[in-house]
Amino acid sequence: MRTMDGPFQLAESVIDTVVTETAPAVFLIRRIEETPGYAHYRGRIDRAGPGHLKRELKRWLGSDYRVFCFEYTDSPVAAFERHCHLWHELGGPDGKLINEGHPEPLDETCRCPVCAV
Ligand SMILES: [Zn+2]
Repeated sequence: MRTMDGPFQLAESVIDTVVTETAPAVFLIRRIEETPGYAHYRGRIDRAGPGHLKRELKRWLGSDYRVFCFEYTDSPVAAFERHCHLWHELGGPDGKLINEGHPEPLDETCRCPVCAV
């Protein structure tokens, strides 16, 4: 199974250093949530079109997200499919994600490879 690169610190200099390609990508940003018993990660998964990964990551500078992971894909469709796999794998909003909705398809011909929505 593929794995994402990271986690890296969500800081401008780090983003500029590690994001070196312009391929479409999926990325996960995480923050720490503290409960009385323990601290755990909650994350947001998203994808970036060709050349947009740096910009998409930098939108979250200054937020309470602390780290990011990312993975390049061969095409926007591959990014959508990977986005779906990760969304399901991480359990959506009932699991480890903050994202409330299922990943949006690119167009009406695009189907989630996991649940076919
Ligand atoms: Zn799905």
